[in-house]
Amino acid sequence: MIIKGIIFDYGFTLFFFENPSLERYTECFKKGLLKSIKLLKEKQVWSGRISDELFVKEFFKKRQRFWREGIKTKIEFPTSFIYQEVLESLEKDNLVNNIDHIDEDTYENLAEIYHSFEREEWKPFPKTKETLEELSKHKHIKLAVLSNHPHHKTIENSLKEYNLFEYFDAVVTSAEFGKRKPDPEIFLYTLKKMELSENYDCLVCGDEYVDVVGGDRAGMQTILCERIYKFPFEREINVPNLLRINDISEVLNYIT
Ligand SMILES: [Mg+2]
Repeated sequence: MIIKGIIFDYGFTLFFFENPSLERYTECFKKGLLKSIKLLKEKQVWSGRISDELFVKEFFKKRQRFWREGIKTKIEFPTSFIYQEVLESLEKDNLVNNIDHIDEDTYENLAEIYHSFEREEWKPFPKTKETLEELSKHKHIKLAVLSNHPHHKTIENSLKEYNLFEYFDAVVTSAEFGKRKPDPEIFLYTLKKMELSENYDCLVCGDEYVDVVGGDRAGMQTILCERIYKFPFEREINVPNLLRINDISEVLNYIT
């Protein structure tokens, strides 16, 4: 089979987060959230009637609620949307002012600040760049990143920061598409953005259930990139013809 495209997952496939734990993620998000308050103060949204702690508590409560809903429905609720929801409910309780001062760009900026500390933690695996460089020599192979992430620019900026963005014909996130992996629609949308019509010409490479099950549902050959870290509540993967690799560079064994 001549491979015409590869769809890579981002987290723990192309990039890693050292010593990941719920506590470390939460710490990054809390730092980002507190930093974003500065922008709310600049926009004169902040009032003396709300504390940083209450804002953090309300935000995490909403984030958690929509995260659960997203798992159930496969709908992505972007971080900018969560900010909007939180501020609207705080305004109803008369705890913030003037939320109409916040336009779409500002919601985007808030989301970017929220994810900024998380982004610093994600680093490419040692062999990510050389693997992409090698793949780029095969002119007939198109490459894409497909990530379940609630803020599109965070993924793009991370790829740009490490000079990897140029290797990809498409970068798709659930924030941009509106639905999350394993929904097969997001895989088909990625194929379209890669300008590939035949799904059986394309490989999907990722570290999670959502990558390989979603890729399989969309009719593609899947490769599980096995992680050193195990996550809590991992689902058993039962996909026919699943290929398994331990390092991103091994993907080179499956192309011609
Ligand atoms: Mg992943």
